[in-house]
Amino acid sequence: MTKVVTIDGPAASGKSTVSRELARRMGWNWVSTGAFYRGLAFVAKEKGIDFLNEEAIADLANSKEWKVVLTHERTEVEYGGHFVTDEIAQDSVGQLASLISKYKKVRERLLQNQRDCKIGVSGLVAEGRDCGTVVFPNADVKIYLTANQEQRAERRAKELGVSVESMINSQEVRDKQDSQRKIAPLQIPENAIVIDTTDMSLDYVVKLIEAKV
Ligand code: C5P
Repeated sequence: MTKVVTIDGPAASGKSTVSRELARRMGWNWVSTGAFYRGLAFVAKEKGIDFLNEEAIADLANSKEWKVVLTHERTEVEYGGHFVTDEIAQDSVGQLASLISKYKKVRERLLQNQRDCKIGVSGLVAEGRDCGTVVFPNADVKIYLTANQEQRAERRAKELGVSVESMINSQEVRDKQDSQRKIAPLQIPENAIVIDTTDMSLDYVVKLIEAKV
């Protein structure tokens, strides 16, 4: 039986860095489920699809025109014959992803592909917003990562080379949208271990989770 660890939390709470490192140490696979929403939003934008048209966005969700590819280092998105993983990391794509992630049909169509990430692997670390509540409700260990807003904004601003102020605003909007939506909102899963990573080193956080696993 594949072991599954889920790591949920708000934007830039360290989910990707922590889950990638945890998977590396355990010799497991990892998936950033945000890549599914970011990839879909990116392709919809490239194709000029109306973001208010739930049906059209949902149709694109299962299209063969794009796909998510798991590697040990990144959750890649392939579109038009090449990887667009750097492009989807942009904050503007995160905002668009948050916009379409509230659509029921979009979530339904992306769900199975996310669940399939555990097929044929001994262990999987899955990170996102609803991994412990919806995608893998029977996960072996559920983690909820958080950190204070300034630190989260600082981390992401540094990665993307933008100002901390603009990042605070953007994260506030996104976190509010993600936690207030009706379907699969960001929330602490039942039985999850909550870790506030403010002022904690990566190594410390990963060791904490490893010990639980
Ligand atoms: O984690 P990341 O910043 O890549 O996620 C981008 C957006 O995708 C989130 O703001 C959220 O709206 C959506 N998302 C989601 N459910 C997940 C992962 C991401 O709704 N499991």
